[in-house]
Amino acid sequence: MKEKLVIGNWKMNKTFEQADDLIGDIFDLLKGFHKTTEVVICPPSLYLELATDYADAEDSNFRIGAQNCSEYKNGAYTGEISAEMLSEMEVEFCIVGHSERRKYFGETDETVAKKVDRLIEQNIIPVVCCGEQLEERKAGKHFEIVEKQVKESLFHLPANHFEHVVIAYEPVWAIGTGETATPAQAEEMHAFIRSLVEKQYGADVAYNLYILYGGSCNPKNALELFSQQDVDGGLIGGASLTASDFVAIVEAGDTAVKDN
Ligand code: PEP
Repeated sequence: MKEKLVIGNWKMNKTFEQADDLIGDIFDLLKGFHKTTEVVICPPSLYLELATDYADAEDSNFRIGAQNCSEYKNGAYTGEISAEMLSEMEVEFCIVGHSERRKYFGETDETVAKKVDRLIEQNIIPVVCCGEQLEERKAGKHFEIVEKQVKESLFHLPANHFEHVVIAYEPVWAIGTGETATPAQAEEMHAFIRSLVEKQYGADVAYNLYILYGGSCNPKNALELFSQQDVDGGLIGGASLTASDFVAIVEAGDTAVKDN
């Protein structure tokens, strides 16, 4: 089993002072902890400089990601932040296609595909979210929905670019609801996504791809989820806002690898 990746998505939470405290606490808890799990923290954009300062410090054990970027390179797009600007901030990852952005800000597979291109141009790793709504799962359409999202947002990439993406499977009904997909449900969908990638890009690319699970992942359920063969880690929302919970999830990543 390959090493895990755990990404914390703070969403639009924390004042600057609270963000400073939280990232400082995570820094302290991870310092000197010889983990194998790769950790990425995605704070609100205004706190990226604060976060990258921590990530650059000696003994730092994490990397920094953004929560969104513009589909455009630059120009008259008031309020937007470009991939180039993120790159100048030393941001290494960026979440795109999160269900909250699809729901509240009209993000589509087409805009996600453009954002993916902007990020790859800047050597930033896109973390592309996909996942079905509850009604879609109940109607048995979850594989079809996820297949469409993955193909339309990512399969235009040549293999050498696809190697630099992360996919996060986040069933919408599990995000922020306290209801988690069962480990078997997560594994079934992750294996399906990997099979799609294998058909398009071959076995090596598919094996090396990180497919994260997101949706009410917490210190209690992380180990069982991460112990599934095709679950390469997690995209963590609510539980990433408490340093001890977030670090416990990182520890679950290490344990899952050690035990398998
Ligand atoms: C998310 O928003 O990406 C997420 C997984 O949230 P939560 O962990 O709070 O369900």
